[in-house]
Amino acid sequence: MENRGFIADSMLGRLAKWLRALGYDTHYQPRYTPEDMNALLREGRLLLTRHRKRAERSDRRALLIHGNHVSEQLTGLARELDLEPPPSAWFSRCLLCNTLLREARKNAASEKVPEYVFHQNVNNIRVCPSCGRHFWPGSHRSRMEDQLRKWGLPFIHETPSEGTEGTARSVTLEEHSTRPVP
Ligand SMILES: [Zn+2]
Repeated sequence: MENRGFIADSMLGRLAKWLRALGYDTHYQPRYTPEDMNALLREGRLLLTRHRKRAERSDRRALLIHGNHVSEQLTGLARELDLEPPPSAWFSRCLLCNTLLREARKNAASEKVPEYVFHQNVNNIRVCPSCGRHFWPGSHRSRMEDQLRKWGLPFIHETPSEGTEGTARSVTLEEHSTRPVP
């Protein structure tokens, strides 16, 4: 499926974080002006919204999201769009600002992350070029898979294939940053 990214409406902040964790380009802001929204829609993004009226406006590519809990929202969306997020794309984006992560420079990373983390993950530390947060491999990936399995996500139907754990592409939500979380 071609995916040019999502716009998560103002009530869907948690869903936006999960979609980013799964590798989807997901724009989110707590409030949108009509100009913001039109600019984002012109990028070809699909609007995800809890508001029936916004979803039904005929000039928009939009999808009505059901359920108040993120588990219902994500499960419904995955079924509706047949989402199959490739595990290689998981954790490729900053959860807070949606930017694609880059490999961190070792010098910078050694100052920003705890010493034991640096030594255990020396070649797998990634950084968000926008907000400066560092991410590294850890136990979060399997915890996330467990959670998705518990929620019954349709694309989690088997145990993870061998060799995906701990590869250079898997990074974690166990982040460290000198900046406060907003
Ligand atoms: Zn960031």
